[in-house]
Amino acid sequence: MNQNCVFCKITKKEISSEVVFENDQVMVFKDIRPSAPVHYLSVPKEHVQSIAHLEGNHRDMLATIIYAAKEVAQKIGLKGYKLVFNVGREGGQVIDHLHLHLLGGWNNKKEIEAMPHPSLDK
Ligand code: AMP
Ligand code: ZN
Repeated sequence: MNQNCVFCKITKKEISSEVVFENDQVMVFKDIRPSAPVHYLSVPKEHVQSIAHLEGNHRDMLATIIYAAKEVAQKIGLKGYKLVFNVGREGGQVIDHLHLHLLGGWNNKKEIEAMPHPSLDK
């Protein structure tokens, strides 16, 4: 637990959030400022700063947060989605507690064409 960390406070339920999945290692909750029609965050309960701070013993935790995001996507019926890790300030990370963005819900052709698309945004 990092005393000043918002996501530690959320996983300890000291700050409220809209939780859609939880087990002993991970919590998935709604992003407060969604950047897609569907936007959840899959967050490990252990405080690790970012993907760049992972060590060998975090492999299971990493698999768990990816699997939890997949479970949520399946549960809510998303046909397609993006899973995104922002890493460090230069990678767009603002909250220094590792988290996986689950983004989706683009339905019509116009929305699908307008979604963020790293391989096409050139
Ligand atoms: P990142 O830029 O990868 O660090 O993303 C941090 C994300 O956390 C942003 O999408 C924020 O909207 C989201 N966020 C910040 N505070 C909260 C909160 N209290 N509850 C839910 N999501 C939050
Ligand atoms: Zn934390």
